[in-house]
Amino acid sequence: MTTLITGAAGFLGSHLVKSLLAQGKQVIGIDNLSTGRLQNIEDVRSHALFEFFECDVSAPNVLELEAVHGVSEIYHLASPASPVFYQSAPFDTIAANTIGTQQMLELARKNHARFLYASTSEAYGDPTLHPQPEEYCGNVNTWGPRACYDEAKRLGEVICYEYFQRFEVQVKVARIFNTYSAGLRNDDGRVISNFVTQALTGEDITVYGDGNQTRSFCYVDDNIRGLQLMMEKDAATGEIINIGNPREISILEVARLVKKLSQSTSRISFHPLPLDDPKVRRPVIEKARKLLAWEPQIHLEEGLSRTIAAYRNQLIVN
Ligand code: NAD
Ligand code: UDP
Repeated sequence: MTTLITGAAGFLGSHLVKSLLAQGKQVIGIDNLSTGRLQNIEDVRSHALFEFFECDVSAPNVLELEAVHGVSEIYHLASPASPVFYQSAPFDTIAANTIGTQQMLELARKNHARFLYASTSEAYGDPTLHPQPEEYCGNVNTWGPRACYDEAKRLGEVICYEYFQRFEVQVKVARIFNTYSAGLRNDDGRVISNFVTQALTGEDITVYGDGNQTRSFCYVDDNIRGLQLMMEKDAATGEIINIGNPREISILEVARLVKKLSQSTSRISFHPLPLDDPKVRRPVIEKARKLLAWEPQIHLEEGLSRTIAAYRNQLIVN
């Protein structure tokens, strides 16, 4: 029983590696270290049950790695995830989610392995239906800076669908909503890492637009538990499931909350809203409740307090 995790040196991947190792599972990690860092998995690099390979999931030679043959579970997480990173590497982002997804599905097919794809709430684009259930088909712009990520993830889902229908691979698609905790790089560019870093260093907290746009933030432990339940449960096979926290909050409120919880003297400053930035986002999680008996347990205030404490202790310098 060996689990393969792509994107193992990234934020979610490294948390998943550690969680599975703690459960006594054999884990193989793959990462090309484009946005991830070895530092994220430093404490488990010499773990007896863990093997790490630096390679690209989109490159043909990934399937030549002997170690990946014989795996029984594959979590395909490899892809830049922060708008800053995926917009600076659009073609790599497209490749990781299309060619990379197909290569990993091929591996799953040959090994009769279960397969979980890390899709995203971005599959809903700038939603016209609120909150978003899995049946909502989305409102995504193909002609803009977010398209390389959003549309690549949507095509990744299509490839999963075909492998499920044609080859009966046990696929599971998690549409992950904004997830946070310590472990995100300070320069990751996503909102929680930016705000916490800014609040702790006394810089301005940079709100884009008027801050009235909303997101729903899930603490990493809740997310990792949800992904593992999806992998374990047969009921999740052939399903797309939202994994996110349904508590919705405006970005301006997040800025104020981070400032308060970190007792920061930073000012809140306003900056232009990036093109195509979704105005609202909140998951419907009835399907996860029903099929996985899962729901988030960690409140935003608690999760942010933990995140702030961890960043304070170890302000990661890149
Ligand atoms: P991350 O950037 O921290 O991790 C992604 C990892 O994938 C990095 O370690 C990176 O080096 C690696 N990678 C990228 N391209 C690769 C390739 N071609 N070959 C091998 N490795 C490659 O991001 P994250 O937040 O941990 O996201 C993990 C996955 O979850 C991504 O697929 C992302 O789209 C998805 N997701 C995350 C969130 C979130 O809020 N964190 C939300 C929705 C979806
Ligand atoms: N955002 C912000 N300031 C920042 C970083 C992000 O106001 O320093 C906003 C961003 O415009 C978006 C929200 O916070 O409306 C979430 O952004 P993030 O990049 O974390 O995730 P995504 O847009 O992919 O949900």
